[in-house]
Amino acid sequence: MSLLRESMTIRNRTITLVLLSFLFPPFPLAQAQTSILGFTAASSARETQIESKFKSIPRPLEERRQHRVFTAEPHVAGSKRNNELAEYIAAEWRKQGLEDVIIRRYDVYGTNPKSASLEMIAPTHYQATLREAALNADPDSKNPAISGAWSGMSISGDVTAPVIYAHSGNPEDYDLLRKNGITVKGKIVLVRYSNPYSYRGFKALTAQREGAAAILIYSDPAEDGYKKGNVDPEGPWGPEYHIQRGAITYDFIVPGDPLTPGWASVPGAKRIPIEQAESAPKIMALPLSWHDAKPLLENMDGPLAPQDWQGGLPIQYHLGGERVKVHLKIEMDNGPQPYYVVEGRIRGTELPDQWVVLGNHRDAWVFGGVDPSSGTASMMELTRALGQLAREGMRPRRTLVVCSWDGEEVGLTGSTEWGEQFADELRRKAVAYINVDEATSGPNFHGEAVASLSPMLVETTRSLRHPSGKSLYEAWKESSARERRESKIATEVTDANLADTRIGSGSDHTVFLNFVGMPVIGLQFDGDYGVYHSAYDDFYWMNRFGDPGYRYHTLMSQLWGVTALRLANADLLPFDFASYASNVRQFIEELTKGKDMNHLDLTGVQKEIDAFEAAGMRLSESLNRKLASGKVEPKLAFTLNHGMMQVERNWLNPDGIPSRPWFKHILYGARFTYAHLELPGLTEAVENEDWPVAKQQAEILQRALATNTKLLNELNSALPNP
Ligand SMILES: [Zn+2]
Repeated sequence: MSLLRESMTIRNRTITLVLLSFLFPPFPLAQAQTSILGFTAASSARETQIESKFKSIPRPLEERRQHRVFTAEPHVAGSKRNNELAEYIAAEWRKQGLEDVIIRRYDVYGTNPKSASLEMIAPTHYQATLREAALNADPDSKNPAISGAWSGMSISGDVTAPVIYAHSGNPEDYDLLRKNGITVKGKIVLVRYSNPYSYRGFKALTAQREGAAAILIYSDPAEDGYKKGNVDPEGPWGPEYHIQRGAITYDFIVPGDPLTPGWASVPGAKRIPIEQAESAPKIMALPLSWHDAKPLLENMDGPLAPQDWQGGLPIQYHLGGERVKVHLKIEMDNGPQPYYVVEGRIRGTELPDQWVVLGNHRDAWVFGGVDPSSGTASMMELTRALGQLAREGMRPRRTLVVCSWDGEEVGLTGSTEWGEQFADELRRKAVAYINVDEATSGPNFHGEAVASLSPMLVETTRSLRHPSGKSLYEAWKESSARERRESKIATEVTDANLADTRIGSGSDHTVFLNFVGMPVIGLQFDGDYGVYHSAYDDFYWMNRFGDPGYRYHTLMSQLWGVTALRLANADLLPFDFASYASNVRQFIEELTKGKDMNHLDLTGVQKEIDAFEAAGMRLSESLNRKLASGKVEPKLAFTLNHGMMQVERNWLNPDGIPSRPWFKHILYGARFTYAHLELPGLTEAVENEDWPVAKQQAEILQRALATNTKLLNELNSALPNP
């Protein structure tokens, strides 16, 4: 799963950063061409050599070969094939020269389909196929191991009830139904995957709250099918029978194994009963192709649906009444199931106890052509290149830890369990986490990073070549400007707003950012992609549409590796805390815009943001001066780096955000839709007009800002003053 594309919003950043970088150039001009952020001139030169060696290793043909290994068979979480692939990765990593390769096991609540059937019994009979038709052009689409339609974490059940069309299945959609005199209690709601995107688990929770007996979620051709363009096998969009599988887990409340919320599902761990699990849905759910949804939709009566509820099918969409009745039966197997995380590392030479963590999930709904096997193939070429560098004596200074996650598609499960298991160690040792889920479905780069790492990510893209022949940086700026024009967003693209600093959920970075308090980076290339989570997301699709020459896979291996190497080799970690401050200021501006803020005084918070920004700028100046001097004493470097690593940890509130204690980060969170949610505790309180809670959340934010300002000032005073 990767909802980066859907949850992506274009920032509306102020120009503060631009001004700051004008007033305080990151380096003295003489250094500008030669030094990488965080490196002295000499170590920059060494780093450039290492990187150019590294970039020369990944090969498109090898990316393709690895991609074929992972897409040869369906490999859903918990399946024999997916577990074999864990063994395969471990064996490859050992051959490639990774160290401490280990497979970690987590026993989690299982969710596998035993059977599912959907039958319309009135006004006419229709038996839903719940299958995807084979395509002659695509041999893999004939594989008998392809599953039918199913939703992870659906409950089992057997219900016969009328069907109501509830558009996207968001709360306001049910309000509209109510206005039309329609309630869904005890009925089955039919909703569509929609634009703007909303995570299907939120649709399920909303239907559950409305008292619906079940939810059917279908792919309307307006969203990802023929209304967008040619469909598979002629084009990249979803064909008539494509089914977007997916879990409906309420992992926006707490991710991971529902039975171990907040601790790891290791053998012998305490487990709660499923009835008490907040993230376990209490509703039946099934995804449908439009082929199977159409007979229901065209037979519905009731009021005509409003214009913006009409979809891409050549019929009139009605809200429904008593006319269409269906019989839905779902049987799930919920026995305990092992998930396997593969972990390997390249031990650092100088600072082995500072870790840069990299990860990608392995499990796929079916073949996982884009999601996640493009990322997995890129990871395998990345690790091959790292292994080769190490053999040739070019080891990183810090340790690189690489992980293949399991069960991401079910509830971000493998990464969450691993993150919970090693949370204390990670809080001591981790520099950052770099996530790649879908490496590529097309040519357009999207990079996201916590605001303190946004400048280093932007700088890193300057040193890579995009298949268009431009630098990745130039290509990124261009595609970003084009996307803004298409979305009618007036903000111009600048270095300060190029990387997305609004980070929601929907992939494996979640535990590291929101629970452990690690800075995170996410990397992805995307394009037209209408077969997400269907059987058509496979090797054929990738070779025909997504990345025929595997050039973007290769570029991803290079980019991922270079980003990791910079973090692993920097003399002084390239965090930019003034950038963090200006982002937080922007978050506050957005939060208060158009709201009556008479009930909440944020002057104290604003003052602390200013102080944090000033401290960040002073520290950057001092660090740059130190780097420019060409010599950073190891003991001093250790103090500074160790201190800087602490900043992200200080954004954690151990109590978590109100009503979601697992989510501890006070700057970053996610809405139930998975969309990004900045200052989550404060924002939700202001949106609910709960002023006492808002005041308390503002105080927590103010204290964290003060703590980090003090920390930066202490680090600054460890450096020689001019
Ligand atoms: Zn994914």
